[in-house]
Amino acid sequence: MENCIFCKVVKRELSAEIVYEDNEILAFRDINPQAPIHILIIPKKHIGSLNEIEIDDINLIGKIFIVAKNIAKQFKIDSSGYRIVLNTNFGAGQSVYHIHFHLLGGRFFRWPPG
Ligand code: 5GP
Ligand code: ZN
Repeated sequence: MENCIFCKVVKRELSAEIVYEDNEILAFRDINPQAPIHILIIPKKHIGSLNEIEIDDINLIGKIFIVAKNIAKQFKIDSSGYRIVLNTNFGAGQSVYHIHFHLLGGRFFRWPPG
């Protein structure tokens, strides 16, 4: 989608530190990390937010969690623990409207989140 920064990362029009890629999914380091490990995992296909996912996206969204646990293992945070965050719309702090899963680790996370 035009003017979507994460679509631009997918098309390599915007640089990012990519840590994983396959034909459907891309993962790269967040530019403003909130934890020692902060990776964004996105579908290459433009989906604006969780509100826009369709039943046909089940496999894609499910695969993102397989990618997430593999990246957690790769960065050695699978045992210590990690958090997956999916912000949806402004009230939850979504600022980029291309669905993305934050994979955060390397520090302790409090509950409930702020
Ligand atoms: P949201 O607030 O929508 O849940 O998360 C958007 C995330 O994208 C933020 O954590 C922000 O730091 C990150 N971000 C915004 N622009 C860029 C960028 O150009 N490159 C990278 N790598 N991350 C970005
Ligand atoms: Zn996009």
